Amino acid sequence: MTSSVEPLVAVVTTDLSAVTRGRFVAESKLQKTAATGVGWLQANLSLTPFNSIVDPNPWGSSGDLRLIPDLKARFRTTRTGSATPFDMVAGDIVDLDGSPWLGCTRTMLKNALVELKDATGLSVIAAFEHEFHVADGGFAPAHSMSFAALRRADPFAPNLMAALEEAGVAPEVVIAEFGDEQFEVTHEPADALTAADRAVAIREITRELARNAGWRASFAPKTAPNAVGNGVHIHFSFVDEAGKPVTYDPAQPGGLSAKAGAFCAGVLRHLPGITAMTASSVSSYYRLKPHSWSSSYTWLADRDREASLRICPTVTIGGRDPARQYNIEYRAADATGNPYLSLAAVVRAGLEGLKAELPSPPLVTGDPTLMSEAERAKLGLVRLPETLPAALDALVADSTVTGWFAPVFIETFVGLKRHEAERLAGLDPASICDLYRTLY
Ligand code: GLU
Ligand code: MG
Repeated sequence: MTSSVEPLVAVVTTDLSAVTRGRFVAESKLQKTAATGVGWLQANLSLTPFNSIVDPNPWGSSGDLRLIPDLKARFRTTRTGSATPFDMVAGDIVDLDGSPWLGCTRTMLKNALVELKDATGLSVIAAFEHEFHVADGGFAPAHSMSFAALRRADPFAPNLMAALEEAGVAPEVVIAEFGDEQFEVTHEPADALTAADRAVAIREITRELARNAGWRASFAPKTAPNAVGNGVHIHFSFVDEAGKPVTYDPAQPGGLSAKAGAFCAGVLRHLPGITAMTASSVSSYYRLKPHSWSSSYTWLADRDREASLRICPTVTIGGRDPARQYNIEYRAADATGNPYLSLAAVVRAGLEGLKAELPSPPLVTGDPTLMSEAERAKLGLVRLPETLPAALDALVADSTVTGWFAPVFIETFVGLKRHEAERLAGLDPASICDLYRTLY
């Protein structure tokens, strides 16, 4: 569809509720806007997913910021079926003098990446794999992952692929997943900041396309208590300063290089503390349960989908080199977590492991729920927090994790999330899933 009006570009930021918010400017004004950005305000960091603001919050009613678009993070496509193009640019929040604002999660990710590189010479290559439900597609029943399951939604999948391609997201595959009316979309690995920007674009483009089909795409971690969970699997690997992949070492167990192993050990050590940042809603904890192929213990495994850190497969067909394919996925994440903050937390935790030169964690096989307490302890398996309040307690209790952030940022995050849990305290799981299904 075309329109004779001048299209708008959204300058956006993604907040602690993982909601992408922003301000729109005329396309012809974007270059000018890039210098000083658009207005933003501190208290927006305390916005809940319920269109309310936590009160009291550390920010109050005063204060102003600027949201500066990063023109390299622009996603534009005419293919969502809307009257005007989908056009968004991710931005960084700064103070009025241009200095980075301590509550900007995109900046937090950039800083974490710089610190990792300064300390170790490593850069992160990442990809976000998203699962979602089309909640009200009204589809005829179909078998899981079947040809028919994807075709019944036609032309949704090819339209999504085309829109993501045009937007520059570099999609890889769109599939019908295991769950009823569940789909998955992946993108090509990229530098970590680009990957997080792509995660934002994927969520919004998918939702917009579904909306234009008269449906609702929901990335909620559980669309119903018994539904198959919607995970966000964050894939990561490392390159050195010469761009050489350094995650793989065939001489090590599972092919995990010593450096990548130290990183993984750091992630597992701080996993209970960072879970609230990567799985940030009440319903997230209905997903993080054993036997649901999500994540439930501080567990590294070679190609096991129950693990929190899973070494992904590499393909050697035709003599292909595993080194560049080799990556690990962090599975304790979902789309109620801010992608920048999620990846920043994983990188910071991994950096702790590298700085402490931790040994690679053991590769665990088997079912932790069938192990004795002593067996689990021997393998370092700790159950992840089982509720959002427990995850917030674990966050606050890990002074290493809280130390990565400004105290007022932690105060804001914990206050926001405690408010979210308290607000839903009287509801049963089915009602809570219903609510998140419409919000995400
Ligand atoms: N749906 C599962 C989750 O909640 C993941 C299934 C898979 O491995 O793709 O994370
Ligand atoms: Mg999947």
